[in-house]
Amino acid sequence: MTRPIRTRIAPSPTGFLHLGTARTALYSWAFARHFGGEFVLRIEDTDVARSTQDSVDQIIASMRWLGLDYNEGPIYQMQRLERYRAVVDQMLAEGSAYRCYTTPGELDVMREEQRARGEKTHYDGRWRPAPGKTLPALPAGVEPVIRFANPHDGIVTWDDLVKGPISIANKEIDDLIIMRADGVPTYNFAVVVDDWDMAISHVFRGDEHVNNTPWQINIFNALKAPLPLFGHVPVILGDDGQKLSKRRGAVSVTAYEENGFLPEAMLNYLARLGWSHGDEELFTREQLVSWFDGTHLSKSPAQWDAAKLAWVNAHYLKTIDERRLAALVVGQFARRGISVSDDEVAARCGLFKDRCSTTVELADWLQMYFADVAPSAEDLAAHVTDAVRPALATLRDKLAALSEWSKPAIAVAIKETLAAHGLKMPQLAHAVRVLVCGRAQTPSVDAVLELFAREKILERLQKA
Ligand code: GLU
Repeated sequence: MTRPIRTRIAPSPTGFLHLGTARTALYSWAFARHFGGEFVLRIEDTDVARSTQDSVDQIIASMRWLGLDYNEGPIYQMQRLERYRAVVDQMLAEGSAYRCYTTPGELDVMREEQRARGEKTHYDGRWRPAPGKTLPALPAGVEPVIRFANPHDGIVTWDDLVKGPISIANKEIDDLIIMRADGVPTYNFAVVVDDWDMAISHVFRGDEHVNNTPWQINIFNALKAPLPLFGHVPVILGDDGQKLSKRRGAVSVTAYEENGFLPEAMLNYLARLGWSHGDEELFTREQLVSWFDGTHLSKSPAQWDAAKLAWVNAHYLKTIDERRLAALVVGQFARRGISVSDDEVAARCGLFKDRCSTTVELADWLQMYFADVAPSAEDLAAHVTDAVRPALATLRDKLAALSEWSKPAIAVAIKETLAAHGLKMPQLAHAVRVLVCGRAQTPSVDAVLELFAREKILERLQKA
C-alpha cells in the first residue's frame, strides 16, 4: 500500500534559516508538490535555552520569501510535551524504555574506565531491566532520565533515497536518552513521535543526521509505527571547500534577501546545488516542481559558488517585471536612508540592470541620481585636468541652453564642445562622469545624463 506523500522541514529556531536547511526545505517542498502531497513546517524548539521566537519569525519569513508554502504548521514541539510523555509511558509499560538513575558524575567515571580499557565510550546499560537481573538500589534524590532499550542484536538497514543502502549493527548503538529528567524529549525521540503523528512519508534532511537514523528506525519499530523513507542530503561546502559557515560569509536566507538576491534566483540556485535535471541551469519554480521526484540528488557535497549564484541572479534581474524590480531597489534605498519613489527608480533601471547581479548593485548605480556623489581624489586628479576644465565650462553652458532635455540634444552639446576645444570624447566624458556620477566608468554618457534633472548636472559641473 502506498502512503499519501507528506514531507516536512523541522528547523530548530536557534538562528536564521540556514542555507542548508533552506535547501532541504526546498527539496521536501518540491517533492510534496510534485506528487500532489503535503508539506509540514515543524519547529523543533526543545533546546529551550537557545530557541527564540525571533528565530521562528525569521524562519517563517524566509520560507515565505522563498515561496515554500506549507499545508500544516508551524507545529511547535514544546506544545506537544504531553504527547511525548504519553508515548514514553506506553514504552515504559511495554518495556522498550526504562528509567535510568545514573548521575552525570557516574557517567564520567563509566566513560573514564571505558577509555582506560581502550573501549569506545557508551552507556553500559546498568539500569536496563532484564530477566533475572537485579537493578541497583534506587538512589535518593536523583530524577531519572528515560532511555530507549535499543535492541542488542540484528542490523538496522534502510535504503537511503540519496545515499543508497545503509546498515549498522545494533551492537554499535547504545541506549539513547529519549527524555530528560525535566520531561523534555531529546531530538531523536521527539522527531520519531512527530514524524509518526504527522504521517510523514519521506524525510529529507542534512546528512549530519545519518548517525541518528538507526536509533530513530528502532524507535519507530518499537512503536510499531510505519517507517518513512529517509534521504540524507550532503552538506554544502563553502567556496573554500570547508563546511559553509558564518565565519566564511553569509549563510542565512535573510542575508541574501538583504544583499539584493531575488527569491526565484535563490530557489533556482539552491535547488540545482545538489540536484540536477539534465543540463538545466535556469528553471522556474513550476519546472522544478514538475521535475523533482527525489531522484538525481547528488551523493557528494555541493560546493557553494558565489559567482554562479550572481550569474543566476543577474539572469532573473533582467527578466522580472520592471515595477517589481523598482520596488526592490526602492527597498535597498530605504535601507540606506534614501527615500525615492518607485517611478523615479523605474525610469532609470533599464539603463543599468543588465550590468548588475543584485539589486544592491543596481542601487549603487542609481544612487548618483538621488544622493550626493563623492568623486575620489584619484579620479579627480586623473580626469578633471586643466586641459579639460575649459571644455567642461563650455559643456555646462551648452547644456544650460538646450531647449529640449533629451539624449540626442545632450549628444549634440557634447559633440560641439569636443569640436570647439579639440578634445577627444574619452577626455571629456571621463571628466563629466567623475564630476556628475562620482565614477569614471558608466554606460554611454549622454544616456546617463539624460536621466538627471538638468540642474543637478549644472551644479556638479560647476565644481570643476
Ligand atoms: N531540528 C533538526 C535540525 O534542524 C531536524 C532534523 C530532521 O529533519 O530530522 O537539524
